Amino acid sequence: MNTVKCPTCKKIVTWDNENPWRPFCSERCKLIDLGEWAAESHRITGETADHYTVQNQGEKESH
Ligand SMILES: [Zn+2]
Repeated sequence: MNTVKCPTCKKIVTWDNENPWRPFCSERCKLIDLGEWAAESHRITGETADHYTVQNQGEKESH
């Protein structure tokens, strides 16, 4: 059985065709990851997304 780590929460996830959210453990983790990606692209294009930027930096520093 193949397993992967959820990129968002690092939980072990079974890589299964019946898991529509793979490699994430859940829809929630997938949406979180997509949200962070969107925040990154906002920053790159110079859009005003200060609240996203501050939140992401705070999370990374706390690890
Ligand atoms: Zn997860």
